Amino acid sequence: MRGSRRSGKNGPLRSLFSRPVTGPSPEPPEPPDALNKARLHGSLQLRHIDVGSCNGCELEIASALGPKYDAPQFGVRLVASPRHADGLLVTGVVTHNMIGPLHQTLAALPQPSVIVACGDCAVNGGIFKDAYGVAGTLDEVVSPDVLIPGCPPHPAAIVQALRSLTGR
Ligand code: SF4
Repeated sequence: MRGSRRSGKNGPLRSLFSRPVTGPSPEPPEPPDALNKARLHGSLQLRHIDVGSCNGCELEIASALGPKYDAPQFGVRLVASPRHADGLLVTGVVTHNMIGPLHQTLAALPQPSVIVACGDCAVNGGIFKDAYGVAGTLDEVVSPDVLIPGCPPHPAAIVQALRSLTGR
């Protein structure tokens, strides 16, 4: 009795004998330039920096890296130090308080590096562009390689944009 429950196709081990319920992932989008794809070899380690976000984009990034959208399966990971990173994932518009740390983080990145602007605030200043605490837009400090528009961007859009860099 116990043996038949374990080995039967409808038993607790049935997932070992059945096909996955998910379909294959779609092809990754084209990278912004061929050099980045070649250098990254399918793995992208990003240091995230919030230079003045409302935290909406952070929630969507957490979701993009979580089990549902699963960016790590495409080679994307966040790292704790810019010295270990292939690039920066920037959220928010550049505030007076964070322009110094942004310059320090950029200086600590190994070169060449990739800069990803995530959310409208990082892409073009967004709704906080003219606020009193804002020093300027990200593109006045560094030129982003990848833009992910949206306020906030959908986790699927974040994953799709990062896949253009890993090529996976
Ligand atoms: S783009 Fe929208 S969600 Fe993201 S930091 Fe700016 S205001 Fe917040």
